[in-house]
Amino acid sequence: MSKVEALLHFTVVLAATLGIGVEPEVALVLSTIALLPDIDVFFGLHRMYTHSALLMLLAGGPTTAILSFFGLGRLGLMGLSLALSHPLIDSFGGYTLLLWPALRKPLRFDFSLKLIGRSPLEVSSEGGGRTKDEIQNPDHLEGPLVTGRGVIISILILVPPILKILIA
Ligand SMILES: [Zn+2]
Repeated sequence: MSKVEALLHFTVVLAATLGIGVEPEVALVLSTIALLPDIDVFFGLHRMYTHSALLMLLAGGPTTAILSFFGLGRLGLMGLSLALSHPLIDSFGGYTLLLWPALRKPLRFDFSLKLIGRSPLEVSSEGGGRTKDEIQNPDHLEGPLVTGRGVIISILILVPPILKILIA
């Protein structure tokens, strides 16, 4: 399965939230939250600690509870769900520290039609995959931030909801 680039985490969520009628300003905030885990690339890492679903739940749970006191619980839950979507989606394309610190090994989901007769969903941990050095070396980033293909896909999926907003 091809790697999911950072741009698509943003634009897919933006198109989906705009498509279901979320206000453009809120949709932009939610899309940025979905992209946020990739902030680790600025520290020379990718799919490391900011891609831990456990850490997201630990930070996002209380944040959502606080937001609900201000009547923004639904928005908090949406943000947490979208943030969680990032490492889950990334885990289908490469090794991710999905359950860190409970599980220190990077995990990857393999979804392959070749595995007929067995569970098609296979969780594999690092070993035959990348070495620790490869994970920490930005030259070995799995999945670029932006590619030409990603830009074209992003434009195609964003045109319908943006046209809908402009026409309305
Ligand atoms: Zn990522």
